[in-house]
Amino acid sequence: MSIHQPPGGQPLRSIGALIDAGIVTPQRHDELQAVAGRYAVSVTPAMAALIDPADAADPIARQFVPDAGELVTLPQELADPIGDDAHSPVEGVVHRYPDRALLKLVHACPVYCRFCFRREMVGPGGDALTGEKLDAALAYLAKHTEIWEVIMTGGDPLILSARRVREVAKRLAAIPHIKVVRWHTRVPMVDPGRITADYAKALRIPGKASYIAVHANHPREFTDEARTALARLADAGHVLLSQSVLLKGINADVETLGALMRAFVENRVKPYYLHHPDLAPGTARFRLSLEEGQALVKRLRGHLSGLCQPTYILDIPGGAGKIPVGPAFLSACETPGAEAFAEDRHGERHLYPPI
Ligand SMILES: *Cc1c(COP(=O)(O)O)cnc(C)c1O
Ligand code: SF4
Repeated sequence: MSIHQPPGGQPLRSIGALIDAGIVTPQRHDELQAVAGRYAVSVTPAMAALIDPADAADPIARQFVPDAGELVTLPQELADPIGDDAHSPVEGVVHRYPDRALLKLVHACPVYCRFCFRREMVGPGGDALTGEKLDAALAYLAKHTEIWEVIMTGGDPLILSARRVREVAKRLAAIPHIKVVRWHTRVPMVDPGRITADYAKALRIPGKASYIAVHANHPREFTDEARTALARLADAGHVLLSQSVLLKGINADVETLGALMRAFVENRVKPYYLHHPDLAPGTARFRLSLEEGQALVKRLRGHLSGLCQPTYILDIPGGAGKIPVGPAFLSACETPGAEAFAEDRHGERHLYPPI
């Protein structure tokens, strides 16, 4: 049985609200209250409506409902797993790669994902980047002419009002060396009603190419409303890309992952990155090994259209950056008169001759 919230309801932001909605049993109140004291909680009505409380392994619940395991931090887990802090020249900007910088306008999100790599930084309340802080961040972007692309992230920038989005868009439009603006968001899936045709238009940056990287992890997130939201964004002229996290118990099997990638492509979203889970505190229950991840990605390559292939990415813990982590289809070959073995989709190896 699934719970159906009235449309336009409020997000569930406390353990009490999750209990009232029938998503969490009252017996778990105390243990989960301790988790909620540490990491923000929010489940939007759209996501709450997808949860089947009778299914202990529900992949939507697993993404958003807190778990007592979150209070256990392993030695290898890091508060800032991908090292954002070391590369932040002014508040709200992360500039790790010369040609692109992150602009974090807000810390809040419509949902709080239990596996979030920025879980120590995101949450309600924190200041949005406004006034002098926004001026300083934009001045940094304007001064650094090597910045070709600005990545709008947070938090989730699509919780901002159309008015604020238009204001920032206008100011970015005035910086000549910025050619590309990329929005990173979960809103089209988790709060699709926000994406009206007008809002989709507000996200366009006059004179620049705009990309929207849509975060989704399970094919069930593609509700009719989410599909409509994606269509509005594509129709407004944005190029849509996907971002997913490979998560144990959610999408780490070839059927689910394949259905997820097909759902993206069917909705004009080109699969971009499939992230290996980051070493965020209290997220051990979601992690799988790189070897398991590579085996899955290899099977996708063998089964699905080239359009459905994401790049499998590891963000090296500590801040050394993102790298693609295979799987490799070429292997070293010692046979004279051959450069390499090339493995086909059936696992058969073929000699590739030297040039
Ligand atoms: C992930 C990330 C980017 C974007 O990387 P792409 O490979 O271009 O998608 C840019 N800056 C920082 C700091 C990042 O963490
Ligand atoms: S929407 Fe993104 S930033 Fe927000 S909690 Fe989820 S993963 Fe983290």
